[in-house]
Amino acid sequence: MKLYPNFYFNNILEITIPFLHENAIQGLILDMDNTLIDFDRKLLEGTEQWVAELKENGIQLCIVSNSNHKEKVKTVAKRLQIPYFYFAKKPLKSGFKKAKEKLGLENKQIAAVGDQIFTDVLGANRSHMISILVEPIGKKDIWITRLKRPLENAIIQRGKRKLQEIKKKTQK
Ligand SMILES: [Mg+2]
Repeated sequence: MKLYPNFYFNNILEITIPFLHENAIQGLILDMDNTLIDFDRKLLEGTEQWVAELKENGIQLCIVSNSNHKEKVKTVAKRLQIPYFYFAKKPLKSGFKKAKEKLGLENKQIAAVGDQIFTDVLGANRSHMISILVEPIGKKDIWITRLKRPLENAIIQRGKRKLQEIKKKTQK
């Protein structure tokens, strides 16, 4: 199912080096709004350290944002010293493809991280990359995101319930 993420975390900081190694992930495509920065353009606390640690461990990073504010995307990318693509039109595959070429990796070696099922997760799955959904860091979503959120919540809840059912079964 193309709307289901392969993995789900509270935020990007929970994506650790051991996790990436376990899943043979060598590159991350990062969404920006509500994944790296909140509505007030504030970077999630600890992001710079997290990025530095990933880089030290040879993990490559690239921002792929749907935002059409070039300067906004550029400012974050510059601060984190990672390449970026803006106005990416996720879930279309073109942005993911460009990032893949930039990273010089195979699709299976790349995980795309974001807070939205209908852009980030769907686009990653369509691109045959690993999809990671994170909780949005900003509470003040723009209206279009807010419209889509109830359905996303339903999907997340269903996923969590499924996990619990599996856990129960395996405990028996
Ligand atoms: Mg986002």
